[in-house]
Amino acid sequence: MVELSDLPGVGEKTAEKLKDAGFADMMRLATATPKELSVKAEIGEGVAEKVIEAARRAENITFETALEVDERRKDVGHITVGSQEFNDLIGGGIETQSITEVFGEFGSGKSQISHELAVTVQLPEELGGLDGECVFVDTENTFRPERIRQIAEGFELDTTEVLSRIHVARAFNSAHQILMVDKINELIQSGVNVKLVIVDSLMAHFRAEYVGRESLAVRQQKLNQHLHSLQQIANTYNVAIFLTNQVQAKPDSFFGSPTKAIGGHVLGHASTYRIWLKKGLAGKRIARLVDSPHLPEGECVFKITSEGIVS
Ligand code: ADP
Repeated sequence: MVELSDLPGVGEKTAEKLKDAGFADMMRLATATPKELSVKAEIGEGVAEKVIEAARRAENITFETALEVDERRKDVGHITVGSQEFNDLIGGGIETQSITEVFGEFGSGKSQISHELAVTVQLPEELGGLDGECVFVDTENTFRPERIRQIAEGFELDTTEVLSRIHVARAFNSAHQILMVDKINELIQSGVNVKLVIVDSLMAHFRAEYVGRESLAVRQQKLNQHLHSLQQIANTYNVAIFLTNQVQAKPDSFFGSPTKAIGGHVLGHASTYRIWLKKGLAGKRIARLVDSPHLPEGECVFKITSEGIVS
């Protein structure tokens, strides 16, 4: 394996700086941007460019043939949502190497699905999990250990063990939220087998902090950077990213949906799968797949019970 200090132009001191800034891993370095690296590791942009270039060479990053892409796609894992119909709708569960976004109004089940996935990712593969750990970035104080316990009991799992494999990061503002994602890289590099990152909810802080049209461009730029960091984790470590998002009313809509997801095109393009959650009759919920690169649009019905999500 190539070490940081083996890279041309990287001495002991730079290697140390890179490690401290969370770039201990060659792939992490190869997928960084010069600007990002220069700011975080406090090195000149010129040096950053050279280091990234060298890391890319070391990792052999160049064109991939479609066959290689196909090969990489074979590593894609799926995490069960708890309902077979829901899994079928999205191609077998929440996918690694991708960003899945659910959006819907208050009480539509976004946080409940997040809690469900935090448990099911820990199941063995034959039961729909990835035998992995979860990072839960909680921006609205919605994470509840007691809810995890209930769901884990439903699967007859050891609740203490399940709780110990969920790493909760409470993010107090958007800058903190962005920083927490950098910490995920460190957690993974320290040997924790993270297979799922949940951000519940993605936009709450961004929405509250950047008010008014004049701050929209800055907000979208920050959001873009945040989403890129998440996608980079997904690709580098074969991790599933699950985001929850809020909706805003579209008072002018006559046809179609009266609500839409917030986050604009930046989020729309970053999410590989977008799922719209709606409240149905008698406590039922409807999930509608509205965007996917290879699956047809469609919808299914699911229920939230004390044991979690069911058909
Ligand atoms: P949001 O989309 O706002 O994140 P939630 O995921 O918090 O919504 O969903 C809240 C809904 O989940 C509640 O209105 C309730 O119907 C249901 N729910 C929450 N906890 C339980 C439980 N223990 N048993 C059954 N249903 C529950």
